[in-house]
Amino acid sequence: MEVLNSIEKVRYMVNMWKKEGLTVGFVPTMGYLHEGHKSLIEKAINENDKVVVSIFVNPIQFGPKEDLSNYPKDLKSDMKLCEAEGVDIIFNPENKAMYFDDFSTYIDINELGEELCGKSRPIHFRGVCTVVAKLFNIIPANKAYFGEKDAQQLAIIKRIVRDLNFDIEIIGCSIIRETDGLAKSSRNSYLSKEERKAAVILFKSLEKAKDILNNGEKNSEVIRKVIIDNIEKEILAKIDYVQVVDSLSMRVVDKIEKSILVAIAVKIGKTRLIDNFTFEV
Ligand code: AMP
Repeated sequence: MEVLNSIEKVRYMVNMWKKEGLTVGFVPTMGYLHEGHKSLIEKAINENDKVVVSIFVNPIQFGPKEDLSNYPKDLKSDMKLCEAEGVDIIFNPENKAMYFDDFSTYIDINELGEELCGKSRPIHFRGVCTVVAKLFNIIPANKAYFGEKDAQQLAIIKRIVRDLNFDIEIIGCSIIRETDGLAKSSRNSYLSKEERKAAVILFKSLEKAKDILNNGEKNSEVIRKVIIDNIEKEILAKIDYVQVVDSLSMRVVDKIEKSILVAIAVKIGKTRLIDNFTFEV
């Protein structure tokens, strides 16, 4: 396995593989890899001849009051995980290689970015779309792997690939959870022992909502209320949003008639966590 920070080198390697007729899988990450990332990497390894994992904490997707400077890092441990999985290249560029001082070209998204995390984190998806487009240009892979944990991000990336004709297939991967149900996240490492216990409220409240949907509830306000009431019982939890949206357009829905995404963002102490599930009618 090679760890490359040069844009030219990684692009050269991927183009060379493709000329040889090999297929290339790409897993973009911000590092501090856990079982969630590992599941994406495993899928990429199974479906491709070669796999590139990028590790880049993208500064332009963090708001001024967000956790960019504290974002956890452990390249050694990430290298170990990638090596064990059979990854061929880790692409680990420096900020200055990715963003010129006068960097000025951004990719924006309308409709799909307006609700959920797009509402709470106004510049977030512009940063995500821009870095993903850059990475797809640097690493011309056949397939790229993204987690359903970031469901809005996945929907947005599928849309930019369609709208801007990127020659890459986007593969969504299911959410990997801790044994108590908490979705694995690099940000879980911020939680104190007490907060970690409290954090299970996200999963538990989503499970309650799922039960009600399975019993035939069609009113999204009822679903939201069940989740909100549940989360509010947890003293360490503060709701950012609880929303029911159409799983393709990410628009808020009142009546549940098509495939929906139930998505939540909750602060446990200072740590903002997200979770979701999709429900097919
Ligand atoms: P991040 O490093 O947080 O930017 O995540 C990189 C990729 O891993 C994204 O596509 C995430 O959706 C995915 N991911 C993160 N956590 C999980 C998880 N618990 N289960 C599945 N995918 C995940």
